[in-house]
Amino acid sequence: MSRLLKGVAASGGVAVGPIHLYRHELPPLPQGEPEDADAEVERFHQAVERVAAHLGRLEEKTRAEIGDDAAQIFSAHALFLEDPSLTDPIEEEIRRGAYAEAAVAEVAERVAGEFEAMEEEYFAARAADIRDLGTQILRELLGVGQPDLSGLSEPSIIVAYDLTPSDTALIPPGMALGFCTMVGSAVSHTAILARSLGIPAVVGIGEVDATAGTTAVLDGDAGTVLLDPSEDEVASARAEIERQERERAEAIAHAKEPAATIDGHLVEVVANVGGVEDAVRAAESGAEGVGLVRTEFMFLDRADLPDEDEQVEAYRAIMGPFPTGPVVFRTLDVGGDKQLPAVEIAPELNPFLGKRGIRLTLAEPEIFRTQLRAILRAGAGRMVQVMFPMVASPAEVRAARRILEEVEAELDRAGIERATDIEVGVMIEVPSAALMADLLADEVDFFSIGTNDLTQYTLAVDRTNPVVAPLADALHPAVLRLIRQVVEAAHEKGRWVGVCGELAGDPLATPVLVGLSVDELSMSPPSVPIVKSRIRALSRENCRELARECLAADDPAEVRRILAAAS
Ligand code: PEP
Ligand code: MG
Repeated sequence: MSRLLKGVAASGGVAVGPIHLYRHELPPLPQGEPEDADAEVERFHQAVERVAAHLGRLEEKTRAEIGDDAAQIFSAHALFLEDPSLTDPIEEEIRRGAYAEAAVAEVAERVAGEFEAMEEEYFAARAADIRDLGTQILRELLGVGQPDLSGLSEPSIIVAYDLTPSDTALIPPGMALGFCTMVGSAVSHTAILARSLGIPAVVGIGEVDATAGTTAVLDGDAGTVLLDPSEDEVASARAEIERQERERAEAIAHAKEPAATIDGHLVEVVANVGGVEDAVRAAESGAEGVGLVRTEFMFLDRADLPDEDEQVEAYRAIMGPFPTGPVVFRTLDVGGDKQLPAVEIAPELNPFLGKRGIRLTLAEPEIFRTQLRAILRAGAGRMVQVMFPMVASPAEVRAARRILEEVEAELDRAGIERATDIEVGVMIEVPSAALMADLLADEVDFFSIGTNDLTQYTLAVDRTNPVVAPLADALHPAVLRLIRQVVEAAHEKGRWVGVCGELAGDPLATPVLVGLSVDELSMSPPSVPIVKSRIRALSRENCRELARECLAADDPAEVRRILAAAS
């Protein structure tokens, strides 16, 4: 009998295949006393060797794919493995009669606690490293290996509690047919990642009670996973995959052509990127530029901040595939669910309402200045756009622009080449910014509406909380009304407006965004061809009428019905 699980649609497309359960949990530890302490000590050393070998492989792979600095995390971990302040007490514990597993668990926790109690931040932060290493040794001792996906050898639907960028980075190409996570929402970073990889995904599905290898049909548009499907169900899923592939191939064939409606209205279609690989993929997919560089992606998952030269290099590489197209660099947007190991933010009860985006960079001007210098240097000889995230009021923009001007003057004094053709914009993702768009328009050249956060803050729905995920619908009429207000205010002052939240890449939403006169749509690279082909089938006049109907609807379900009936 097949079983249907319902979650949240996170990345479109259908996948059929065996499920691969990606589990972090550990089996129970052995109880009692081992007979042979020497053999236990030997078992411990062998486990440490296997962990060291695993770290070596991760280091090599990371160095080749990401760079030296990111790879250092793994070499630092390997050094801890040889540190007698960790290994000696474990051996002593074993010789006192403990199983290696119990000794590792106890000592790792004790040493981590000692680090945590230290005054210096650097040492306190090492507690997490020790716990992580302890778990890795335990996994080897318990014979369950490291929970990484690099060994995946059969194309599978990966079912996990959650997936981080480092989990997915290790998946060999072609082995992930789909992602299904127990937690997360449509705008959580797992979902964004799946969309940028073009892999169907369902998130926030809750507990999945299934054994590895069970066949499943994952539908990333409907947000469902069907376990143990019948032959007919598999056949119809395969037919749907073929239909989608044909539609996609057709869209890709025209991807590099501009996107104008049948009545001749041009919409700029650009991409959201997190690094150079995304930028290359974006250009290949027909994106006309980059509407959002999530620069924080190069700051996350590493112990130190990238210096100015490293940033210059990374930003130049991102602009490489777009020698003439626009490239919008969003300044560091950390805080909320994106924490930076190198910058301590005191624990907050509501991090999404805390020190995030522009609030953090204004409070840490050195980080901000270094980044602005790097963007300006990287943009020498071409046009470059700088955008500030999480802006809530005009004063923040003025403060940020003052720093930008100081940085420009500083570079000029030092005779350093820099961009002189600069556009400055802000993300509209806080309701106050949308409501004050007329005044913000005096401070900037453009707006880009971040519907992911604008939805979260307008509807008071935490974008990462699976319990309320279905409420986080960017097609809510309240969000659409704010978009209308922002576009009208901007156009009045001759400013252009983009949308760079996930809504921009949803083909169902294309007609309403065109009808609301949004000038630019920025999305994950795989969505570009489909959205362009959707625009080419629309009439602007009809879209305007459709937008009026959507704005008058009283809930997102009605908006979806209106849009589905028109598509
Ligand atoms: C948004 O909030 O819509 C956005 C594009 O920014 P991020 O998803 O990176 O917060
Ligand atoms: Mg945002």
